[in-house]
Amino acid sequence: MNSHLNQKVAQLQSKLKGQVLLPADVNYHEIRKVWNAMIDRHPAVIVRCADSQDVQSAIVFARENGLELSVRGAGHNIAGSALIDNGLMVDLSTMKSVQIDPLKKTAYVDPGATLRDFDEAAQAHALATPVGINSTTGIAGLTVGGGFGWLTRKYGFTIDNLVSAEVITAKAEKLVTSEDENTDLFWAIRGGGGNFGIVTRFEFRLHPVGPEILAGLIVFPFNQALQVLRQYREFVKSAPEDLSVWAVLRQAPPLPFLPTEVHGKEVVVLPIFYAGDMAKGQKLIEPLRAFGTPYGEHIGPQPYSQWQQAFDPLLTAGARNYWKSHNFTELGNKALDSIIEFAGKLPSSQCEIFIGLISGAANRVRSDEMAYASRDTKFILNVHSRWENAADDTKCITWAREFFKASAPYAAAGAYVNFMTEDESDRVAAAYGSNYNRLVQIKRKYDPGNVFHLNQNIKPNA
Ligand SMILES: Cc1cc2nc3c(=O)[nH]c(=O)nc-3n(C[C@H](O)[C@H](O)[C@H](O)COP(=O)(O)OP(=O)(O)OC[C@H]3O[C@@H](n4cnc5c(N)ncnc54)[C@H](O)[C@@H]3O)c2cc1C
Repeated sequence: MNSHLNQKVAQLQSKLKGQVLLPADVNYHEIRKVWNAMIDRHPAVIVRCADSQDVQSAIVFARENGLELSVRGAGHNIAGSALIDNGLMVDLSTMKSVQIDPLKKTAYVDPGATLRDFDEAAQAHALATPVGINSTTGIAGLTVGGGFGWLTRKYGFTIDNLVSAEVITAKAEKLVTSEDENTDLFWAIRGGGGNFGIVTRFEFRLHPVGPEILAGLIVFPFNQALQVLRQYREFVKSAPEDLSVWAVLRQAPPLPFLPTEVHGKEVVVLPIFYAGDMAKGQKLIEPLRAFGTPYGEHIGPQPYSQWQQAFDPLLTAGARNYWKSHNFTELGNKALDSIIEFAGKLPSSQCEIFIGLISGAANRVRSDEMAYASRDTKFILNVHSRWENAADDTKCITWAREFFKASAPYAAAGAYVNFMTEDESDRVAAAYGSNYNRLVQIKRKYDPGNVFHLNQNIKPNA
């Protein structure tokens, strides 16, 4: 960095409550890490913001000094868009406050909070709203892309529960957005990703959940995959929205309830979540066991926040990851055949194909009600390729791409932007379908210079 910029950085620091980090600083390398180890970039400046004013100062600084700007919530995004080479990274990860108003059933959440921070604060009052299934994910990136999890069947996407948001725009203005204020911006940030500004505060609607819920796994042998998945698809058509059952095909982790000889074998797992009366839930899930002859199961009452962390050990930071994703309105026979074919040739012990069931409340929202458009989607499929050594990059990426291509003919239109990698910019318009043109217009209004372009980018001149 030249001495002129160095001087300006010192001026920036004097304005901040937070901290500026430069490459020579002790914790620079720790802070610049993101979840996906395939992404390794070196920002010229990291601004660790303490409040929304710091965010404003960081945007002004980046603009005045011609620095590209990236935004980091919890750094989980598979595309690694939080991290920029030679630019300025706005790091929100220390802005973690979560305030709950139990009477209004409302949460006020800062953009550096993780799902764990959020769930634990809300669960202190037996409240929750739908968020993702891995507790170290950031609430900010998850929300602006959509956000779904175990509660989505009943309460919709995270964005369906967003009441208002404070946004810092490309001009560094602070705007409150809601159904009553700056309504176009509120429409756009609900699914439009980080394209429109930096959200510095989220207000969410909460619902009574738990604190105890019924949850767990049933694990079947892989050679029963076809019968299990065909019955699964019929079962979920009429299952009540309190019940969510997903399907995962992978090698069995060393789970204590499975015989040791099953560890490392290919299996079909049905993760189950029911947030209602325990006895009723037990009865509802009974038919699932008869889909085949399970290797084992572990299902029982447990705290909701604990279930929200159940998959964390399989999703730790620091591995190499490449994802592909399709939406499905139905799982036809050919789609299932393709899933089973590729699950039968997993290129590493950590790769998996998962089918997230989201049918329910999310389908009752009109597709033009907010930016997220895929309101007919019943299942979101994620091809999760994950491995440790760079030497396996080609093998693991090729597997994901080939499966994506083979299953594409059976997939629905649209895509979930939060599951898209950095090489999928040609899918962005299709992801938003008929909402894309309106998003471009709103982008032109709020960010004509495309300051916020490190994301699944909606270009102002598209
Ligand atoms: C292991 C794992 C499990 C996941 N599980 C789920 C799941 O169950 N359900 C689900 O819906 N998604 C899931 N996701 C996807 C997740 O929603 C996205 O990766 C999301 O982008 C993560 O948010 P983050 O803040 O951690 O990301 P970051 O990498 O920090 O940010 C990603 C992008 O989000 C935008 N952004 C971040 N903060 C802000 C802000 N304050 N204002 C505006 N834009 C911002 C920026 O464009 C940024 O580049 C999962 C991801 C991983 C890695």
